[in-house]
Amino acid sequence: MPPEPEIDLLDASRITQRLLRRTCAWCGTEVPYSGRGRPRRYCGKSCHDRSWEVRSAEARLRRDIAAGTASTEPVREVIRETVTERRTRLIAAAPPSTAPGWIAHLEELVRQLTVGELAASTGITPSCRAPCTP
Ligand SMILES: [Zn+2]
Repeated sequence: MPPEPEIDLLDASRITQRLLRRTCAWCGTEVPYSGRGRPRRYCGKSCHDRSWEVRSAEARLRRDIAAGTASTEPVREVIRETVTERRTRLIAAAPPSTAPGWIAHLEELVRQLTVGELAASTGITPSCRAPCTP
């Protein structure tokens, strides 16, 4: 009787998986796993705390919306626009023809530039009014 041919049969197969590392649920940094205990979801306490803050804020918002104390509508504003115009009428006058007329004319100009309506825009103060000495 001839020997029977050998046939290699696979009786069983076993595949095992082992977690080596995962990414932080908040920042995505890789968090190694030691193989013991529950794997960590976050790389550190700050990521854990931030995640908890967001989750608890979302829960509070949903609760407030359900209770009607928070709105889901966007903020709307009503704005009133007021335009104020100021006009100045300039009347052309003939220049003074005498020295006293020029002195009075120039003094009025100095008054307008130092204490009058134009003073704020010029920055000239009344102390600048001292007569000039050559
Ligand atoms: Zn993290």
